[in-house]
Amino acid sequence: MAKRDYYEILEVQRGAGQDEIKKAYRKAALKYHPDRNPNNKEAEEKFKEAAEAYEVLNDPDKRHRYDQFGHEGLRPGADYHGFQNINDIFSSFNDIFGSGFGGGLFEEVFTSGRSRSRSRQQMGIPGSDLKIRLKLTLEEIASGVEKKLKVKHWKTCDTCSGSGARAESSKVVCPICNGSGEVRQVSRSVFGQFVNISTCHNCGGEGRIIKDRCPTCHGEGRVQGEATIKVNVPPGVSEGNYIPLRGQGNAGQRGGPPGDLLVIIEEEPHKLFTRNGDDVLLDLLVSFPEATFGTEIDIPTLNGKARLKIDPGTQSGKILRMREKGIPELNTNRRGDQLVRVNVWVPTKVSKEDKELLREIEKSDNIKPKEGDRSAHSDRSFFSKMKDILS
Ligand SMILES: [Zn+2]
Ligand SMILES: [Zn+2]
Repeated sequence: MAKRDYYEILEVQRGAGQDEIKKAYRKAALKYHPDRNPNNKEAEEKFKEAAEAYEVLNDPDKRHRYDQFGHEGLRPGADYHGFQNINDIFSSFNDIFGSGFGGGLFEEVFTSGRSRSRSRQQMGIPGSDLKIRLKLTLEEIASGVEKKLKVKHWKTCDTCSGSGARAESSKVVCPICNGSGEVRQVSRSVFGQFVNISTCHNCGGEGRIIKDRCPTCHGEGRVQGEATIKVNVPPGVSEGNYIPLRGQGNAGQRGGPPGDLLVIIEEEPHKLFTRNGDDVLLDLLVSFPEATFGTEIDIPTLNGKARLKIDPGTQSGKILRMREKGIPELNTNRRGDQLVRVNVWVPTKVSKEDKELLREIEKSDNIKPKEGDRSAHSDRSFFSKMKDILS
């Protein structure tokens, strides 16, 4: 597919300033964010597209190259890699939304109240998100599966229940800010009086300090540990999909809210089947007599064996469709098909007796294509199918 113009994607003029580009990207990212558009492939594509456009237009070098040469100027080798998948985009969010951007907007919108902005007297420091990759077989994807994941992460300290203090009484009001979490500095100048409010460094904005620290976690309120976490994978997921497990990431410090665990799906290659969307493709070998006389064969599917009927006179290369033997579409009742390509198998080793038999059969005009027909058989629908399959 031809790439769309980056300016068009972000809906800005070619001369747009950096602020305008940032604004446009923020708008697009919020609109197409996967959390707001669950299981919406189109939105996900738009989300990635916008991220890619922003990555280029926000970088003066890349933007200059793009303005001069278009997409050609950004080919690999020109130190541009693009976003391979959605996770790369997430990892770049901190850069985009965290710094130089007023901060926090993104978090506020998408972490349902788990704001990271340092408001006054907040409890502790929020824990970070964790990502874990989960490999699945095509069979598991077809049926859906429950998996147990071992995760190493920060977890709440049992001794102090996350407070970081030896006892509740060992937390005292911060003497520097008197519990407000903020420090005000008043300065006077010829222009008048200025009040500068900043986060209290003594307590980190919490308003209270720990006098006597918990001996287990040394005041952090969390310890490193391992957890076994169950995740239910619905049928029909694809490579790069992720399942967010809210609150299962790293525990926060001193009672701060936990981060999320993002389970990212990886699809293991199958030794028999190739996936094409919700369909699966399989190559089947049959003998010349089987193709000639027709037969019924038990063949593998993602859900055990199933019987396939081969009609008499089936040509090599014919694709047979086994309805609803493919992969379920995510969150619907529809199911893809299994496409079976029939290939007539040709022996490579034949005995003396086989040779004599074959020579005998060869004498019949009915078992070979007629001279004029050799080049005549071309099934166009097969080529278009193969184009779909191979693309
Ligand atoms: Zn503790
Ligand atoms: Zn303080």
